Amino acid sequence: MDNQKGLFGEFGGSFVPDALAEVLENIAEEFEKAKNDEEFNKELNYYLKYYVGRPSPLYLASNITRKLGGAKIYLKREDLNHTGAHKINNTLGQALLAKRMGLKRVIAETGAGQHGVATATAAALFGMDCVIYMGSKDAKKQPLNVYRMELLGAKVILVESGEKDLKAAVDVALGDLVQNYKNTFYILGSAVGPYPYPSMVKHFQRVISKEIVEQAMEIEGKTPDYIIACVGGGSNAIGAFADFIGNPDAKLIGVEPGGIGIKTGLHAAPLTEGKISLIHGYKTYVMLDDAGEIKISHSIASGLNYPGVGPEHSYLKDAKLAEYVSITDFEALHAFKKLSKHEGIIPAIESAHALAYAMKIAPTLSKDTMIVVNLSGRGDKDTDTILASEKESVRLQEIINN
Ligand SMILES: *Cc1c(COP(=O)(O)O)cnc(C)c1O
Repeated sequence: MDNQKGLFGEFGGSFVPDALAEVLENIAEEFEKAKNDEEFNKELNYYLKYYVGRPSPLYLASNITRKLGGAKIYLKREDLNHTGAHKINNTLGQALLAKRMGLKRVIAETGAGQHGVATATAAALFGMDCVIYMGSKDAKKQPLNVYRMELLGAKVILVESGEKDLKAAVDVALGDLVQNYKNTFYILGSAVGPYPYPSMVKHFQRVISKEIVEQAMEIEGKTPDYIIACVGGGSNAIGAFADFIGNPDAKLIGVEPGGIGIKTGLHAAPLTEGKISLIHGYKTYVMLDDAGEIKISHSIASGLNYPGVGPEHSYLKDAKLAEYVSITDFEALHAFKKLSKHEGIIPAIESAHALAYAMKIAPTLSKDTMIVVNLSGRGDKDTDTILASEKESVRLQEIINN
């Protein structure tokens, strides 16, 4: 087994059974060829422009900026992409790679359903068969996303094994890939997993930072002073960071979900409080309990709720090329409301974590400081959950008052 490829310092690699390693090796080779192929890039860029609607604007949130009275807060509007988040950049890229490899069937795992919807969208576009694996427990919480995937022509298979969650769905999807690799491509949803996925997902999300470089130069005539992005698996963050890594002018800040609070242990912040270990076939910081078992993570944002993190982020943290902080559920909710009310933009609760940190530091920075927040997605999907959690806290408050 070859663990040397796809290493970011000591992180990443590929720790998988031989049968899977062979399939992944083939995907890695095809990806290397495709990414330097002019035809492939031309086709991808066509769909990014006319189907996704890129470039996404870099928007000065002037109301919030004025209220906070410090640094200028710019929003990279990934929420305006077709399907409402950054995920489509990656699913289109991987689906086109599958098409180039002559594969007519794509599969994916999904937790809350966002990646499933983005994959089903790409499959519909390219006329591919699509199977989405989703833990049955997750599917119960997200019936609308299940219906969306079905509308888009995907077959949603509910996973009843393990904890009936995202991890179980990944395991079943990998099993499907090993069985059916001759006609099937596995579209992975974040910059995680064994080689070559972290590098491949970064490549397809890199368009975010490429656009920020140009837009910041056009609008402010400089490199942004801060790039701030939320980190679940880390794909929107690594995409926003990519072209700034090693540039001393830009401070890169990844915001992990602090959940109820880091001290309570109820969070999903392995870079803030984790240990180096293996998860899903790669090495990274992972949330572990005292017995060395992977802990159950907690976050109000289902898209950030993962006990591991993309291996390149572990490397960037240890090499001090990026800084990682955390924001609690409560702080993210506050930012979610502020942006909705004062800017007329309802952000995804995931993205609200990045925004909350920007709002924390902006007042301490000079007015000519430029902060770019990667607004990874829109919040329409979150309003039900947030309304329910508000009702619950009102109920608890009434119990306390009586
Ligand atoms: C899935 C998702 C995330 C988290 O995934 P990353 O791979 O960490 O980017 C963040 N924001 C939104 C809107 C998402 O849908």
